[in-house]
Amino acid sequence: MTKPAIPILDLKPQIQELWPQFQAAFERVMASGHFILGPEVQAFEREAAEYLGVGHAIGLNSGTDALYIALRSLGIGPGDEVITSPFTFFATAEAISHVGATPVFVDIQEGTFNLDPVLLEAAITRRTKAIIPVHLFGRPCDMDRILALAEAHSLKVVEDCAQSFGATWQGRQTGSMGDFGCFSFFPTKNLSAFGDGGMLVTNDARLADEARMLRAHGSRKKYHNEVIGYNSRLDEMHAAMLRIKLPWIDVWNGKRREISQEYLNRLKSMTGLVLPAMVEGHVFHQFTIRVLDGRRDAVQKNLQAAGIGTMVYYPVPVHRLRVYQESHAAASCPVAESSAEEVLSLPIWPELKDQGCLEKIIEALRDALA
Ligand SMILES: *Cc1c(COP(=O)(O)O)cnc(C)c1O
Repeated sequence: MTKPAIPILDLKPQIQELWPQFQAAFERVMASGHFILGPEVQAFEREAAEYLGVGHAIGLNSGTDALYIALRSLGIGPGDEVITSPFTFFATAEAISHVGATPVFVDIQEGTFNLDPVLLEAAITRRTKAIIPVHLFGRPCDMDRILALAEAHSLKVVEDCAQSFGATWQGRQTGSMGDFGCFSFFPTKNLSAFGDGGMLVTNDARLADEARMLRAHGSRKKYHNEVIGYNSRLDEMHAAMLRIKLPWIDVWNGKRREISQEYLNRLKSMTGLVLPAMVEGHVFHQFTIRVLDGRRDAVQKNLQAAGIGTMVYYPVPVHRLRVYQESHAAASCPVAESSAEEVLSLPIWPELKDQGCLEKIIEALRDALA
């Protein structure tokens, strides 16, 4: 396959724009000789906590570890059930299985791609310990209803914010509302490092202390290990780079919203598509449409031939993946299943419009649908 003329994501303009700052940060860290959990990580944790309006931030080496360490810190393990979405990246469920708990998949809401709060209530059992809402594609979940249910049933809430840095629900940052918020700085996310990285946030000092202990081999004091933990630390170099990007996140997310609005204006007259809604606080990590009438794969192929990169997030709902298909054979999530057959994510990154790509994408899509 040849590389598309317009990729689904182009990180180069952002890197070029901030190149001198990145270079200075690189030199600063190299000169310091300090590479893991040093002053840059501490400063980034402080700055990120302030931006998100939370008491504590803990830098980790991935979003997957953030989910996993959150569940461990909450004491969730074998015999416990954790409810989550079947329409997410595999890591959400993987973290639940990794701590020995059982993932319970509740279908998504038509139109939001997020957990359906009505179905959520019906799935709560005596074994349910936590809910992991995923703010998929940067669209905040209905946190009022999820938090109310959690409160009524004494459940923990771990927000999967891997795709939603800077997204808000009624003015509150995603990640700041649950017991824990889990972020990923994987290179494709809205706020990204130059490799793997992640972060946990919480307002609970005891939970923050527990998570810090787990990230460093289960030790509060070096060489005095208390429990079996992990090696999951954010590197100084990544933290230094993230500190340069953090002040830009609102500008970048604003541009993603502008581009999405333009997509919506231009695509609304095309038939056979379902478009995402422009809602308050949505940061459009992805601009994901649904292509109806079984035409998704053909449309994607036509776009590929026209040099437009797209992706299918996600082609198989989690409960139908090989790893879970036997244990979760009884799970029925028809909206997630039909979404997997219809979704198509179009190119989006903050500078896409400035580079004059939007017009070409719209035209190619019109031709692909014809
Ligand atoms: C990316 C992602 C993760 C995992 O983050 P990593 O940093 O890649 O480990 C978890 N959940 C969702 C929804 C994601 O998109």
